[in-house]
Amino acid sequence: SGGLVAYSESQPDIGTPDVDPNQKEPKKKRVVVLGTGWAGTSLLKDLDASLYDVQVVSPRNYFAFTPLLPSVTVGTVEARSIVEPIRNMVKKGRGEVKYWEAECVKIDAANNNILCRSNFGNNLVGDREFLLEYDYLVIAVGAQVNTFNTPGVMENCHFLKEVEDAQKIRRSVIDCFEMAVLPGLSEEERRKNLHFVIVGGGPTGVEFAAELHDFFEEDLVKLYPMAKDLVKISVIQSGDHILNTFDERISTFAEEKFKRDGIEVQTGCRVLSVSDKDITMKMKSNGEICSIPHGLVLWSTGIGTRPVVKDFMEQIGQAHRRVLATNEWLRVKGCDNVYAIGDCATIDQRKIKEDISSIFKAADKDNSGTLTVKEFQDVIDDLLIRYPQMELYLKSMHLSDVKDLLKDPQGNDQKEVDIEGFKLALSHVDSQMKSLPATAQVAAQQGAYLSKCLNRRLQCEENPEGPLRFRDSGRHRFRPFRYKHFGQFAPLGGEQAGAELPGDWVSVGHSSQWLWYSVYASKQVSWRTRMLVVSDWTRRFIFGRDSSR
Ligand code: FAD
Ligand code: MG
Ligand code: MG
Ligand code: MG
Ligand code: MG
Repeated sequence: SGGLVAYSESQPDIGTPDVDPNQKEPKKKRVVVLGTGWAGTSLLKDLDASLYDVQVVSPRNYFAFTPLLPSVTVGTVEARSIVEPIRNMVKKGRGEVKYWEAECVKIDAANNNILCRSNFGNNLVGDREFLLEYDYLVIAVGAQVNTFNTPGVMENCHFLKEVEDAQKIRRSVIDCFEMAVLPGLSEEERRKNLHFVIVGGGPTGVEFAAELHDFFEEDLVKLYPMAKDLVKISVIQSGDHILNTFDERISTFAEEKFKRDGIEVQTGCRVLSVSDKDITMKMKSNGEICSIPHGLVLWSTGIGTRPVVKDFMEQIGQAHRRVLATNEWLRVKGCDNVYAIGDCATIDQRKIKEDISSIFKAADKDNSGTLTVKEFQDVIDDLLIRYPQMELYLKSMHLSDVKDLLKDPQGNDQKEVDIEGFKLALSHVDSQMKSLPATAQVAAQQGAYLSKCLNRRLQCEENPEGPLRFRDSGRHRFRPFRYKHFGQFAPLGGEQAGAELPGDWVSVGHSSQWLWYSVYASKQVSWRTRMLVVSDWTRRFIFGRDSSR
């Protein structure tokens, strides 16, 4: 293949069937992957490219290690250290993976093709459009920022989703300092320029606030002594606490640490609008509206659906939803040959309530109309696989033995239950259903899972509806996706962090920060980036951060 340009020229009219000039051998099924983020690259890493004709479309020809983006905003880590070229990542596989640097602008679900547009920003190549046909499409385009239609946010706020965003923030932060120390400014003007506002008290906002605070305390204060008492960092959070997806101990620790550091946390506040000078918000408690001047605003609250995905949802009857829904095998609902993974999608978890009659029937092997404990125990493993909320329910009830589920309302053991008793026993299970968070951990696990499915496609196709042995005994069915949570970190600055690991293990402080360093070094996708990141950290320890624009 001669790269994108040659490829585009070989098919000048959009709308003609896609013919790959290089493909003479017996036709393999075509897999098209949209996106080279966490989900897309994790899929590509394990996908057996000898089984398929694989094409990847993404406007960025690299993978970015997003958890280190906040560190890039102040130069703790350099941008180049956290990106890995996609062509490096796919070249090692069996079989060839083709990559096209372009954006998918339209998915045509009825005709199994996508329209792509490349934009190299120069006249030689300019905008190019081309069609790609697929047999299987994997949507892994991630999410976009969500302004909740708040006026002025798009124009006047910074975001932190992409590497370019982080680089832009870095320049703007330095600009704020340089501007604030120019001669002839009033103190008020200097203060305004040095007021950094972060909207959103989630992990990204909190980490940015911490990084900014460290940058100032450790490096900038020496270079801009005049700014010493004028800098202010504010975090605005609509809920009652920052880091509210974390354990309470971590969230409290973070709030206390920020207080000591002089980072102001404003909770219960909703931002109404942002102008180039002020940010206007409303206190939820008393309805009071206030405006404060700012030098820089980072908007880091919520994620939204990309237009191309929204349009696709309308085509397949998902217009009423907010997020693209898949089943537990990550197949898009209403579109059998399309998968969606990562932040752009959500798993529409099946309720046990909806299946309760068929579960009962299948479990009742002797057709007696009642279930014995033994009959119930025989299907419990399948239920745990098919309905992950079941496991959470057993945990939340501290039940180790499923027998206890079959107790009657007075708490006595029942030998057998009828359908009504069975419904009652499982009536609260669905309350434990949770949608998975939009994290790299989820995206990467979904990509890895899907690569396995595609590598074993035939089995998968024979059994699209999964593992319930009791529905079709004897046949090995494909397990639905199962998320495994490995914990989460919240770096809080000053070489301290909060860490939350499985099994209710929570720690805060300096040791957690060292754990963070080692985990994030080990998670790097290549030895090259690992080395770059570690040497950036070392450089920062020895020489401090670079403060040039
Ligand atoms: P992304 O990684 O966003 O990838 C989307 C890909 O699709 C990109 O390559 C993009 O260029 C491409 N794309 C976009 N539009 C199109 C289009 N129209 N056509 C083709 N391709 C397209 N998660 C954690 O678990 N731990 C953390 O510590 C953590 N920290 C984070 C810090 C920051 C600052 C941010 C922003 C996120 C963080 N996350 C973290 C969340 C994590 O980055 C996301 O959940 C993850 O990136 C989702 O993966 P994805 O593949 O769905 O989307
Ligand atoms: Mg992706
Ligand atoms: Mg990414
Ligand atoms: Mg998701
Ligand atoms: Mg029976």
